[in-house]
Amino acid sequence: SDWVINGSKTFITNGARCDWVVVAAKTDREKGYAGISQFIIERGTPGFETSRKIRKLGWKASDTGELSFTDVRVPAGALLGEENRGFFQIMANFVWERLIMALGAVSNAQMLFEIALQYAKERQAFGQPIGKFQAISHMLADMATEIELGRAFTYHVLRLYVEGKEPVREVAMAKLYACDMACRVADRALQIHGGYGYSEEFPLARAYRDARLGPIGGGTDQIMREIIARSYGL
Ligand SMILES: Cc1cc2nc3c(=O)[nH]c(=O)nc-3n(C[C@H](O)[C@H](O)[C@H](O)COP(=O)(O)OP(=O)(O)OC[C@H]3O[C@@H](n4cnc5c(N)ncnc54)[C@H](O)[C@@H]3O)c2cc1C
Repeated sequence: SDWVINGSKTFITNGARCDWVVVAAKTDREKGYAGISQFIIERGTPGFETSRKIRKLGWKASDTGELSFTDVRVPAGALLGEENRGFFQIMANFVWERLIMALGAVSNAQMLFEIALQYAKERQAFGQPIGKFQAISHMLADMATEIELGRAFTYHVLRLYVEGKEPVREVAMAKLYACDMACRVADRALQIHGGYGYSEEFPLARAYRDARLGPIGGGTDQIMREIIARSYGL
């Protein structure tokens, strides 16, 4: 028999332009998280609309939409996976998504470090490259140290994942640390560029805005801390 879906979801990456969406919907209200199922729905299905496109601080190359569903009728075959197993399917995917975010944060931070290092060697102030001022060189030293820590731990977690260990706690730790670290690195890289860092003539302003999504998307820093704390029985 058909399913009829009602509701809305804010913040869907590429939601304004996608042809298909995977929707999580409550299929058994009594069972809480064990009563959620996933469905594949095609754009154009009556009642399925993009209600708005959200303007954002960063990530402007990727649109973010709000989707609405009003009596959207889909066939039984639209069910993805098993009925009422949607939450577990989403959680399994989250481990990989969060790991990808941690890896992306490390590589973005590395790129910004290299840009800032080069600028510190080239930009002259008071007769010398700004990288010769200890205030600047120590900022770069801190950036490099934090990036190496983030990389080493994130690669360690990637290894656990590839070995099939389901490192839920470690992935939460990696995302928490790497995404926060990338924000700190973006902030310092911008500072090292002085006024140009704040301008749109260099890539720092965009990188600073884009990095800020890391501690929010795919589960916030606060939720990562919850996962870590609960894994210790708290
Ligand atoms: C650009 C962008 C793209 C996105 N793309 C997608 C997408 O494609 N698909 C998708 O499903 N989602 C997507 N999201 C949603 C994203 O995952 C959520 O915004 C994020 O998980 C936070 O949820 P929320 O916005 O409902 O914040 P809320 O849950 O309202 O949280 C608000 C604040 O309260 C804190 N908080 C909430 N609950 C707790 C708690 N239990 N303990 C402690 N603190 C808590 C949060 O950490 C946060 O600081 C996207 C978001 C953005 C910004």
